[in-house]
Amino acid sequence: MPTDVVNPATEEVVATVEQTDAAGADAAITQAAAAFESWRAVAPADRGRLLRRFADVVDEHIEELAQLEVQNSGHTIGNARWEAGNVRDVLAYYSAAPERMSGRQIPVAGGIDVTFKEPLGVVGVIVPWNFPLPIAGWGLAPALAAGNTVVLKPAELTPLTAIRLGALAREAGLPDGVLTVVPGKGSVVGERFIQHPAVRKIVFTGSTAVGQHVMRGCAEQVKRVTLELGGKSANIVFADSDLAAAAATAPYGVFDNAGQDCCARSRILVERSVYDEFMSLLEPAVQGVRVEDPRLDSAEMGPLISRGQWETVASYVPDDAPVAFRGKVPEGPGFWFAPTVLAPVAEDDRAVREEIFGPVVTVQPFADEGDAIRIANDSDYGLSGSIWTQNLGRALRVARAVDSGNLSVNSHSSVRYSTPFGGFKRSGLGRELGPDAVDAFTDTKNVFISTA
Ligand code: NDP
Repeated sequence: MPTDVVNPATEEVVATVEQTDAAGADAAITQAAAAFESWRAVAPADRGRLLRRFADVVDEHIEELAQLEVQNSGHTIGNARWEAGNVRDVLAYYSAAPERMSGRQIPVAGGIDVTFKEPLGVVGVIVPWNFPLPIAGWGLAPALAAGNTVVLKPAELTPLTAIRLGALAREAGLPDGVLTVVPGKGSVVGERFIQHPAVRKIVFTGSTAVGQHVMRGCAEQVKRVTLELGGKSANIVFADSDLAAAAATAPYGVFDNAGQDCCARSRILVERSVYDEFMSLLEPAVQGVRVEDPRLDSAEMGPLISRGQWETVASYVPDDAPVAFRGKVPEGPGFWFAPTVLAPVAEDDRAVREEIFGPVVTVQPFADEGDAIRIANDSDYGLSGSIWTQNLGRALRVARAVDSGNLSVNSHSSVRYSTPFGGFKRSGLGRELGPDAVDAFTDTKNVFISTA
């Protein structure tokens, strides 16, 4: 059944995409399983060369992919160019992996013992709508480098760039069945990835509820699973920080991608002694965020992805919400939501505890370092976070004490392809990216050779 793909900035239909049914998903998985036997046998240097060629072809199409993402996802053109470039960089980074997948030689009596890193088989990558290109790349690149074949399900709302990426892979010379993009519903295609025995691992990014469902389903066949789930990250601002820099950057730490970012620093915690001063600096910074046509180079924030997401986000800002101040949005069609700062808020407020996934941030005061750590950790999530202080010892103490997978000091950086990314607690399981990600797409085989 075909589904309309809507531009969230204009509400216009930009494409119609055929949804794969369960039989179609099974056929894609069967083809990927057949391709696995020959793909794993490709010599390491040749597999690396093919991935580098894929990276080069993506590089030649950065602008096309970026424009397509702007149309489909409403991402600002600046962000979309970065996202397409990230796919290229991740492919190039993991193209070096096939020739470096060394095992170990372990001293034993009576012979030689060696280990091998064996690919798993077919890997199913389930991608959400918030970062269609990078999240696809983080799963598919290390999986392919390790010798697996990949079936990839984009989100129903945002399939266009993934479909194009599949075509570019073939253009680069990847054999049929090595990377197959399977557009369709999570409840149909995603379910087949979980249930089909030929899929040996699932890489899932999305909501915690669906992630738990995926994990339960994978348990049935002891299928490997990596989960990147939600977040409610803290941006901790100490009185000894460069307050002007902390306030100027705080909006971008949460409102980037209209807040539809699992790493959004959606709880700002400010040391009480500088709370008022921080708020007076934050207000102009929030009002200065350029929310506009995402095709413009100057745009800093676009619309939300859908009417449904708009309604979800709006439910956190009812008429009696404690709105401290808000930014502006364009008039006319599109799922626009103004950057919104809520304060004061109670610790048990829904807006403080739940992932909003929109441009809404809460601000809470704290008394001292211990209080800041307590509030930061008072969450089911633990994905990301920032610490603003000029005191190096404090920065390290707090970074070690916050239960979170990715912290940045005096910045809001979360993701680099060369460093590990993933969550503590209900934010996820396993790590993506960085030097070790390929290992998560292999099983260790131990072989003993008798010298007797
Ligand atoms: P979902 O978790 O439903 O979607 C993520 C992906 O999982 C999509 O590709 C979806 O397919 C797929 N999926 C859905 N149901 C199943 C299933 N039964 N089996 C296998 N795959 C499935 O996220 P939503 O789009 O519903 O967003 C809801 C909330 O989740 C957001 O508001 C946000 O809080 C959070 N979220 C977090 C993300 C993150 O990066 N951590 C990313 C996205 C959402 P399809 O949509 O095509 O049906």
